[in-house]
Amino acid sequence: MLLSAKTIRLDLIHPFRISRSVSAYKENVLVSLSDGAFTGMGEAAPSAYYGQDAVSAHAALVRPDVILPTDPFDLEIGDKRLRTALPGQSAACAAIDMALHDLAGRRLGIPLYRWFGLDPTRAPLTSFTIGIDDPETIEKKVREAASFPILKVKLGTERDLEILKTVRTATNATLRVDANAGWSRERAKEMVRLLPDFDVELVEQPLPPDDRDGLRMLRDISPVPIFLDESIQVSSDIPRFAGCMDGVNIKLMKCGGLREALRLIHTARAHGLRVMIGCMIESSVAITAAAHLSPLTDHADLDGHLLIANDPFEGVKVREGRLILPDRPGLGVVRKKE
Ligand SMILES: [Mg+2]
Repeated sequence: MLLSAKTIRLDLIHPFRISRSVSAYKENVLVSLSDGAFTGMGEAAPSAYYGQDAVSAHAALVRPDVILPTDPFDLEIGDKRLRTALPGQSAACAAIDMALHDLAGRRLGIPLYRWFGLDPTRAPLTSFTIGIDDPETIEKKVREAASFPILKVKLGTERDLEILKTVRTATNATLRVDANAGWSRERAKEMVRLLPDFDVELVEQPLPPDDRDGLRMLRDISPVPIFLDESIQVSSDIPRFAGCMDGVNIKLMKCGGLREALRLIHTARAHGLRVMIGCMIESSVAITAAAHLSPLTDHADLDGHLLIANDPFEGVKVREGRLILPDRPGLGVVRKKE
């Protein structure tokens, strides 16, 4: 099989600010995998938080010792080999895993959701993310997002209450908040008690990823469910955090692809947890791959492609928060017409 990798620049509609970083564009790496008859597509959206960038992901993707399975249906073998060959490069692993699934789906002539045995109409509504900004810009962004029934509000600043007041005054939408590990234990205790005043549905990653005692304490007193994102990368992370959370935010780029995402979903369910499927800043290639698994989840946060001004692809569509999966074979992603 022939693999090629290309770095692309995705320009953001608004600079994207969370508690630890701000960015105006994102560099991702596209992968295409050809067996001569069909070509599968994948995307790596590397995250600086996990020590990855476009340069390291691209280098990983063209490394000669990455032995691809000769048969794209050898997905378990492919997954194991990738993890061994590319430690610490979960986004690069996800790109290849996605391309193998796309290729296999194209060969079968069926969309991925069908191969997984899922009903695409059971995909949960996706939230739309409101990054950290000044009150006027936040108000403007909330107005622009009027068609979304669920908003995810980024917090983890000194001005969190002001942000929440601004958003709640501007909308009646369901609100979720994400502190991106930006609160101390004291601050988190204070904040979770105030969240019901703003009718917040859930709070994501209130404390640093490894603060298990803090998370357990917080869960005991929190009137709103706690979801963990940065604490959980792969399925084997779930057991030790099981008493610290109500749900987990799963991302292909953290866990290394659809195979591991499935294991995460089943492990989370076995621990009685709720499941959200989320994303990084990604084009329609990776967002669509995640959307194919979304019927297995309770919540979706698949808006990465909607934050981009120059998405080269089209795949899953979002209408008033509803995820509409393409019924073309494989991922069902095509290049946008000029
Ligand atoms: Mg998050």
